[in-house]
Amino acid sequence: MSSNLVTVAYIAASILFILSLAGLSNQETARMGNLYGILGMVVAFVATASSAAVTGYTTLLGAILPAVVIGAFLASRVAMTSMPELVAILHSFVGLAAVLVGIANYLGDSSLLGIEETIHKLEIYIGVFIGAVTFTGSILAFGKLRAIISSKPLLLPARHLLNIGLVLGSIYLAIPYMHAEAASGLKPLLIMAVLAGILGVHLVAAIGGADMPVVISMLNSYSGWAAAAAGFMLSNDLLIVTGALVGSSGAILSIIMCKAMNRSFISVILGGFGQGSSSSQSIAEQPQGQVTSIDAQGVAELLSLAKKVIITPGYGMAVAQAQHPVSDITKLLRENGTKVRFGIHPVAGRLPGHMNVLLAEAKVPYDIVLEMEEINEDFSDTDVVLVIGANDTVNPSALEDPGSPIAGMPVLQVWHSTHVIVMKRGMSSGYAGVDNPLFYKENTKMLFGDAKKNVDAILISLKEISPTLVR
Ligand code: NDP
Repeated sequence: MSSNLVTVAYIAASILFILSLAGLSNQETARMGNLYGILGMVVAFVATASSAAVTGYTTLLGAILPAVVIGAFLASRVAMTSMPELVAILHSFVGLAAVLVGIANYLGDSSLLGIEETIHKLEIYIGVFIGAVTFTGSILAFGKLRAIISSKPLLLPARHLLNIGLVLGSIYLAIPYMHAEAASGLKPLLIMAVLAGILGVHLVAAIGGADMPVVISMLNSYSGWAAAAAGFMLSNDLLIVTGALVGSSGAILSIIMCKAMNRSFISVILGGFGQGSSSSQSIAEQPQGQVTSIDAQGVAELLSLAKKVIITPGYGMAVAQAQHPVSDITKLLRENGTKVRFGIHPVAGRLPGHMNVLLAEAKVPYDIVLEMEEINEDFSDTDVVLVIGANDTVNPSALEDPGSPIAGMPVLQVWHSTHVIVMKRGMSSGYAGVDNPLFYKENTKMLFGDAKKNVDAILISLKEISPTLVR
């Protein structure tokens, strides 16, 4: 393919990627957004593979074919609840690719001289730094999300000094690297990659529990910048544009998540810099009171009498795959004249938009699925709230206990409604590892057991009651 045609294809792919991002910003257009993304990737791949810069198709196919098979196999098997882990490990690949491309570029023949050579060496250095931070940080995030590593923050005594030391060390190593002749700068480059790798591990290790969503979107952003850096090293315009799109959209998402969780963006990206004891040690008070349980039939009776119902789903609904019977209950209640809405916390589940995706899959109408700030005022005017597998996102200690690790995080204030039904299997804490005083409130009743089984049982009872609904 001629270089002009490649440029045209790259522009087309860039436009498709932008359309994809625009489409993904809305539930109704998300499918179209995905299609644009896939199409953009196909155009980008075909154009790159057929450009003059690519030779050695046997090697290329040898690398691509197994990768396609492994990728398709793993992605098709991954459960929705494990998606963040998959995303985290994929981010680590981008980081590793940037490191390897950087090293290969450094060792490869370069015809550049003077200022161009200096800029190219600097591109490699920065690319390897970002790549190494992304690589190890993402692996740690993967471990935390998979619960191989504790989600509690690792708070070393002089942790900020350690971070500053690692950054200064990396900057210092740039001096011998930039002055080195031929490939003799490889040693400082590799040492810097190790330091950046330690920084990546430490930055993510210091962030705990409830702040993990920000870490994921932040690593998403880093992986974008790592790809952009690789684009500079390979002089590939499309990789620069795509990397910048991913990097900036990830950064915007991180800022949105931080705002939603009342966290400082700078503090989170610097591994909890400037945070007080609230997120460091759990000095939260133990919740007091009695736990009252209820059975599915009791919940169905409450629902049949209610005029206004709000459902607040969380990670447990995703694990139990309860969204379809939840959708059926919603339909039945709405047919009987009950006002049913959903309250979605921005970090409910394990990935941004997790609950929206599940509810859309179960065909819950979009207009009754509301964001936290749209619905939080309405709980006091609600008869029954169904908390389905949510925990941290409905934890009153975030607002009431300054010593809580989630202090300051806005939550769905479900306890203001007349009746709160919490569906979960036992009394365990949520992802952030914080006890939840909601379970002990007078107006709360616990429906213990798997969310899917319980929602199915409520649906059966409701159908029995439904012809004789009293209001
Ligand atoms: P939580 O993780 O706080 O709690 C989920 C609850 O679901 C658990 O307490 C568990 O209790 C219950 N549960 C698990 N399986 C089932 C089941 N089969 N049936 C019924 N209940 C079940 O969920 P939230 O959605 O409220 O909060 C999300 C948390 O995850 C936040 O802390 C957030 O910061 C974090 N996070 C979010 C990410 C995102 O991007 N959205 C990414 C990473 C982390 P039990 O075991 O007793 O059943």
